[in-house]
Amino acid sequence: MTVQPSRDDRTIPPALPVFDRVAILGLGLIGGSVARAARKHVLANAIVGYDRDAGVGERVRQIGFVDRVADTARDAVSGADCVVLAIPVGACAPAIVEIADSLMPGAVLTDVGSVKGCVVRDVGPHVPPGVHFIPGHPIAGTEFSGPDAGFAELFDGRYCVLTPPGAADPAALARLTAFWEGVGSTVEVMSADHHDRVLAITSHLPHLIAYTIVGTAAELEEDIKQEVIRFSASGFRDFTRIAASDPVMWRDVFLNNKEATLEIIQRFTEDLTALQKAIRRGDGARLQDWFIKTRSIRRSIIEAKQA
Ligand code: NAP
Repeated sequence: MTVQPSRDDRTIPPALPVFDRVAILGLGLIGGSVARAARKHVLANAIVGYDRDAGVGERVRQIGFVDRVADTARDAVSGADCVVLAIPVGACAPAIVEIADSLMPGAVLTDVGSVKGCVVRDVGPHVPPGVHFIPGHPIAGTEFSGPDAGFAELFDGRYCVLTPPGAADPAALARLTAFWEGVGSTVEVMSADHHDRVLAITSHLPHLIAYTIVGTAAELEEDIKQEVIRFSASGFRDFTRIAASDPVMWRDVFLNNKEATLEIIQRFTEDLTALQKAIRRGDGARLQDWFIKTRSIRRSIIEAKQA
């Protein structure tokens, strides 16, 4: 297949393509978007994909966003100088055990999981010597799943967090950074622990709140429930979009970022109780002060072009 360069004039990676062969395990929203973006920006000579769901593999063959769909994970990663685990974080432990012997010395092994501490814990010990393991997390996504949901522009203008272990090879880190910059992202490097604490408030708690609100509405009496759907534009609708996110992915996020999530739920509960008290006491000043503060956060996000 002929690949047409279509880069715009943002930061150009040092050398294109960044990798010879990229193998992507998991061809859903994120894996499919990585493949499409890597192809669009000519970041690899070849892209090989594998998904444990044979139906997904078949669909990807039809769409054609990878050069080859492999029949096994081991086949997919053989000869690849970059391997991307684009699967739920709870699936990473068995996946690395399966592919470890087939990884090429010198290859960069990365992932896109929404929790990083568990990936370091589950994958790290199985990485063969000479393979450069650099966990990652693109801060970009939608509520859709599967191979049809991905698109090449998903990472454009978004952050990608990399959490390299202390002994990470600088050249491998530079190549992976060039890859993510090549798809339009800004790369931030931090520790896995810091990542998990930050994401607990910016992503995991908001999802839990959305799941709770929409679940609460689902439990209401039938007549009220109908009204909730009719008048959803008054705020509820925005929560339903988040609460439609992938159930397996989010189950794994909460099971694997337990400490940080529980800590932030505790703080949230305290603040909610304080606002509850303000409402009960008719303390308008307290409520208004709080809402002024939160409005300024929205403005900061717009200014940072992350809205
Ligand atoms: P997705 O659309 O559901 O795709 C994941 C695919 O991986 C599914 O087809 C799944 O098959 C397959 N899979 C699971 N285990 C596998 C294995 N061992 N080998 C090969 N394929 C396997 O999920 P996604 O939204 O792309 O999420 C993938 C990862 O990206 C997750 O770790 C998530 O935390 C992270 N992430 C997601 C978002 C988001 O907004 N969705 C954003 C940033 C990062 P089955 O259906 O059979 O399990």
